[in-house]
Amino acid sequence: MSGGTLDVVDPATGDRLAEVPNMGAGETREAVASAAAAMQTVSSLAQRRGWLKSIAGLLMAEQEELARLITLENGKTLTDSLAEISYAAAFFTACSDNLQFLEPEVLGERIRGCQWHIHHCPAGVAGLITPWNFPVAMMAKKLSSALGAGCATVCKPDEKTPLSVIAWWGLMEKVGLPPGMANLVIGEPGPIGHVLCTHPEVRMIHFTGSTEVGRVLAAQCAPHIKRLGLELGGNAPFIVFPDADVPAAVDALIPNKFRGGGQTCVCTNRVYVHADVIGSFTDAVVGRVDALRAGNGLEAGSDMGPLINRRGFEKVSRQVRDALDRGAKRLVGDDPAWPGQDWGAFFPPTVLTGITPEMEICREETFGPVVAIAEFRDEESVISLANSTAYGLAAYVFTGDDECADRVISRLRFGHVGLNTGTGPTPEAPFGGVKLSGYGREGGREGLLEYCESQVVAEHCEEGIG
Ligand code: NAP
Repeated sequence: MSGGTLDVVDPATGDRLAEVPNMGAGETREAVASAAAAMQTVSSLAQRRGWLKSIAGLLMAEQEELARLITLENGKTLTDSLAEISYAAAFFTACSDNLQFLEPEVLGERIRGCQWHIHHCPAGVAGLITPWNFPVAMMAKKLSSALGAGCATVCKPDEKTPLSVIAWWGLMEKVGLPPGMANLVIGEPGPIGHVLCTHPEVRMIHFTGSTEVGRVLAAQCAPHIKRLGLELGGNAPFIVFPDADVPAAVDALIPNKFRGGGQTCVCTNRVYVHADVIGSFTDAVVGRVDALRAGNGLEAGSDMGPLINRRGFEKVSRQVRDALDRGAKRLVGDDPAWPGQDWGAFFPPTVLTGITPEMEICREETFGPVVAIAEFRDEESVISLANSTAYGLAAYVFTGDDECADRVISRLRFGHVGLNTGTGPTPEAPFGGVKLSGYGREGGREGLLEYCESQVVAEHCEEGIG
């Protein structure tokens, strides 16, 4: 083992949950070699369908234990963790349904005197790197498509939250995957990432995480012309037009914003409310947020857990302070108790009004339980405000006017839009961002095809034509 061990700590209590091996470049190279060996045997679609269904079944069968581990290492509530496991399992089920799209195709007519076959081949060994905010689901999104496409994988979960994935891998022997198809490496990210991005046997990297790290990986992959999927940060606008059902918009905002303590890539960052309804909307939001409690995710009565660590806490605190200094008003929340250590970062659910574009909270992803409300007066200006971000992952629009919805959505530069809903992605549909939120898609047929290369075979050609 190259680097000793790493402690995994409960972010709510500071308890040391486990010690895990700190793997490095050597172990990663071994994992790549094992995956490359697995790629020497081509699996049938029927085999892959069997693996995917089996993994979905195992995740659901062990959901209680896996959810408990997620809550311990990540801090989110048990309800959120259980929902994460169902979501993760659904990726395997949806992908098994989509394997029909990998059947070889034959073009209907002879073209240039030949018959043309299209094969959807596995892209090769895939390096999968995921963050701490959905330790099981983010890996499930990638692993389902990779295995569905027939790619062997080297998987690197976040060092802060490896326990649920380790427990999941413990179940994998029941799946009957060929050796080397799903390798797990855990450790500090730099050396592992470097091997994955530069090793010639790794043909693609799929990453979910911050835009900063996405840039590092893109730069490392570029000289090797490696396929790359990047699911990066967001800064979602939530737009409420005057003809919207305001109570329904509030009902949609609360779970969207506070799931995982506001630490999801699709959660609302900026709320734009028309001047005609901002009073009733804000009053209702204040009432709802005031009743929320941050606490240990294992305890009944906690609506959200702590932020993942002190760094996350400092970022959210800085954004709130910056907004207040620039004239925002805090209607719910308080200056939070400073965690002197790296755990116990409970941030009070907060509502700010009077948000303006120059505030940090408008420009950067918050990743915390803060509702930031701004007023708008016309459609043109709110489209411009919503798009005035370097990110483009998720956006939400609330209106009773279908034509307004069509006009606005067609001009929003975001990969996912909720119309009169705060619902995020689903395994059956492609999900991903534009601009600094990355490129590539996960879920749906498109997510599966990310892991495939088309190979075209021309045959039975009539000589002299073409
Ligand atoms: P992060 O710092 O980018 O970490 C994500 C993963 O990358 C972790 O496994 C991390 O390892 C690893 N990593 C860090 N530096 C690396 C390097 N040089 N080489 C290879 N791997 C490296 O992400 P985060 O800020 O903790 O996570 C939250 C971010 O993820 C947010 O911006 C959020 O919006 C985004 N996110 C996006 C989506 C989406 O679908 N678009 C979904 C969920 C989250 P260690 O942690 O072990 O150091």
